[in-house]
Amino acid sequence: MKPLDFQNYRQIVVLTGAGVSAPSGIPTFRGPLGGLAQELLPVSDGRRVRELLPQMWELYGRLRGGSANVHPNVAHYALARWQKKWQDRAQITLVTQNVDGLQTRAGSEDVVEIHGSLLRSRCLNPTCPNAEPFEDLVVPVEVPICPICGDALRPDITLFHEALPVEALHRTKRALRFCDLFLAIGTSGSVAPASEFVRSAFDAGARTILVNLTPLEVASPYFGETILGRVEEILPSLLGVEQD
Ligand SMILES: [Zn+2]
Repeated sequence: MKPLDFQNYRQIVVLTGAGVSAPSGIPTFRGPLGGLAQELLPVSDGRRVRELLPQMWELYGRLRGGSANVHPNVAHYALARWQKKWQDRAQITLVTQNVDGLQTRAGSEDVVEIHGSLLRSRCLNPTCPNAEPFEDLVVPVEVPICPICGDALRPDITLFHEALPVEALHRTKRALRFCDLFLAIGTSGSVAPASEFVRSAFDAGARTILVNLTPLEVASPYFGETILGRVEEILPSLLGVEQD
């Protein structure tokens, strides 16, 4: 695989999805590895958070506990090395739909997590200081209680019917507005918000590239190029960060 030439780009946005974490053994929500959909859907309704907290914590607590046994893969490390190599020469914004924290564990800095993180919790009481997400690696046996106000804690995960975190979305949109290269890696790219991100990048005049295992189910007119393959096999060479 011929490496991309990053020399001429100044505002690069990289969006990663489940396909980047799949080689680490994390089941993708959609796609050929099948997955978590059946378990996630019923407990991830953002309109019924309080009611669903016990089931929600049963599932997300288990996933949190399992994350100790999950490790970053070649694709995560390639992205981290690439960021280090280019961050002095271009503005790089790493946006991920994944909640596993694996890009950060691989060494990437300042990852924008638009769907939240399994490794954080927040308080349901909007006036509590803990309403701001905080790192939390505890695997609770029942619904955890906020140590400050006594209300319930929830996982800091963006649920269905919930808006994306304001700050993360704002940073992403700002980066896209001036973007000259947009890479979507391991994401179906056809479902919002990814579909909207590529459109914004396209509108900004960016070169837009999809890197994925399979072609999109519905082709997007906003992706100029598509590179098909296993991310763990193609990313190191594509990003020009193969280790010697
Ligand atoms: Zn609280």
